[in-house]
Amino acid sequence: MGGSGLPETRSICPYCGVGCGVLLRPDGQGGLDVRGDPDHPANFGRLCSKGSALGETVGLEHRLLAPQVDGRQVDWDTALRLVAERFSDTIARHGPDSVAFYVSGQLLTEDYYVANKLMKGFIGSANIDTNSRLCMASSVAGHKRAFGTDTVPGTYEDIDEADLVVLVGSNLAWCHPVLYQRLLAARKARGTRIVVIDPRRTASCDGADMHLALQPGSDVALFNALLARINGAGAVDQDFIAHTQGLEPALEAAWADDPSVTGLSDSEIAAFCDLWMATERVVTIYSQGVNQSTSGTDKVNAILNCHLATGRIGKPGRGPLSVTGQPNAMGGREVGGLANMLACHLDLENPDHRGAVRDFWNAPHVPHASGLKAVDLFRAVGDGRIKALWIIHTNPAVSMPEADAVRDAIAGCDFTVVSDITAQTDTARLADVILPASAWGEKDGTVTNTDRTISRQRRILPVPGQARPDWDILAEVGRRMGYLRAFDYDTPAGIFREYAALSGIAGQFGRDFDISGLGDLSDSAYDALEPQRWPVTSKRKGGRFFADGGFFHADGRGRIVPVTWCPPVARTEPRFPFRFNTGRIRDQWHTMTRTALSPRLSAHLAEPFLELHPADAARLKIGGADLVHVESPTGRAILRARITDAVQPGQVFAPMHWTGETAPSGRIDALIAAMTDPVSGQPESKASVVTVSRF
Ligand code: SF4
Repeated sequence: MGGSGLPETRSICPYCGVGCGVLLRPDGQGGLDVRGDPDHPANFGRLCSKGSALGETVGLEHRLLAPQVDGRQVDWDTALRLVAERFSDTIARHGPDSVAFYVSGQLLTEDYYVANKLMKGFIGSANIDTNSRLCMASSVAGHKRAFGTDTVPGTYEDIDEADLVVLVGSNLAWCHPVLYQRLLAARKARGTRIVVIDPRRTASCDGADMHLALQPGSDVALFNALLARINGAGAVDQDFIAHTQGLEPALEAAWADDPSVTGLSDSEIAAFCDLWMATERVVTIYSQGVNQSTSGTDKVNAILNCHLATGRIGKPGRGPLSVTGQPNAMGGREVGGLANMLACHLDLENPDHRGAVRDFWNAPHVPHASGLKAVDLFRAVGDGRIKALWIIHTNPAVSMPEADAVRDAIAGCDFTVVSDITAQTDTARLADVILPASAWGEKDGTVTNTDRTISRQRRILPVPGQARPDWDILAEVGRRMGYLRAFDYDTPAGIFREYAALSGIAGQFGRDFDISGLGDLSDSAYDALEPQRWPVTSKRKGGRFFADGGFFHADGRGRIVPVTWCPPVARTEPRFPFRFNTGRIRDQWHTMTRTALSPRLSAHLAEPFLELHPADAARLKIGGADLVHVESPTGRAILRARITDAVQPGQVFAPMHWTGETAPSGRIDALIAAMTDPVSGQPESKASVVTVSRF
């Protein structure tokens, strides 16, 4: 019960991958009272500024309340008939690979499952990708190379129990604030040391023992230096290394790398390596500075290599931890929401896995090969190969690299559908059909957070107008395309039971993701489901992975992967002399569709800006708060100058939140060239090139 005596509803914050539990109660004025759930294992009652302002963002001021076709309000039957007919007709005339879905980590697991089943099982294409491709696809690829599956080895408790936490490319203090609060609590309780590895001095450096301001993209060289020193000091764990293979070639690659490319001094590198090797309980937390890179997968493996070589993995206070930017990025990974994955961590390329999923779904066929990843998907929209596109809860006309080209591609697509809670986004304005979806607070389902904890999101608000849950919209389109039985769902609980049963098949194949222990939940048991970490089977519940080996490659051994430093693909040149870094600010989230509704969140940093070093500002005669013109080979923006030595000379930084709706000159993703990691397909967002001049 809350203070008023009204019952509170347990749910989950919809913003980031920390997955904090919240207790919600209507405030009687259309909003919600929100407090942290003291019993949720992610946050134990803590919330950050965004989570605590949730109640201010649930009004109906900008809501889409009815379907629209070509800007006219229509009924659901008209809209859904049109969507099903246009997709069916396009597939009949041009084949299944002529259509695509681009979805989002905002979807609940049940929504994601239905979207993936419709595309991969029944349309027969793998052209479903998600904005998680922009967030952590390199971690997925690195995990699969090292472990054989996309497994997060550790848990949040490892942060509480570590003696050294290394933050790599992660401004944890602003982007995952509750985990940072846990880290500061651990520091107070046990003296945990903190090292930040980031070209920029961020808020996370305030409480750090060491900040290594390395050159952008040089992380592989730094962790290769660490691996070489581990070996040189005789600190390889010989017992654990027997569970792996690849140390020798990885060492040869490490020896060949030149640590000076990091721009760090020998003494800085030595101090970091000595601290790391002297501390048994080390957790390495990494995020977008690692993943959003043309060498993102190699960076991930360079980090994993050091943990594998020393056996610092899967044990209390030890291991790598990739932190994700979206509330259900992990759920999307688990249902196979990426174009190169099958449901339940089964492999699209494995004929036995494909056959098992096809039989389970009673589907006509499951595609043999990966579909188009986000950057390639929008290129295919632009050149006409994709002729029907369904975008769900994401705003690629703002958030994709080369956003102007993506915007033009969507505008030129034969048929575009957008599902969202508002029609007032840059992307929705380009759509032929806009479908009103239920918002957070109005829908039931599950999400998985960064440490594999599955939690229930629960409905507390009435569904406004004609809005419907995403799983319901997708299933209705599936039925109208002729797949009546496969999409005969009544409730998210029914979808979850099917999904859990499918995961049991994955378990039989020896995969990590198995929640078959939840496969026979009644509706009421589903409603009451407590947060729990997977796997959940009759034999096992939660826990860590790999403390004693047990990797998921066919031979059971982990892989230490040889990696070599490569500079960012984009090269500075006289015309574009600055390295352009992008990221988030503390109080905004993604393209601001929700957080901008809160006056107190918008007051933190109210307009788009560019951080510029004082020496560069003086040379360019730019003063504090001047407007500056920023131009790249792909776009331009006008931003407010913030002169600070938090960035290094020759480097600039801008936040990624502002849109054509909120600040037309501040759409900074238009500046970013769409260059991708060759393994993961994740685009680089940290090392583009630009020129800067006073406006
Ligand atoms: Fe929400 Fe993330 Fe903040 Fe937790 S840390 S309250 S999940 S935004």
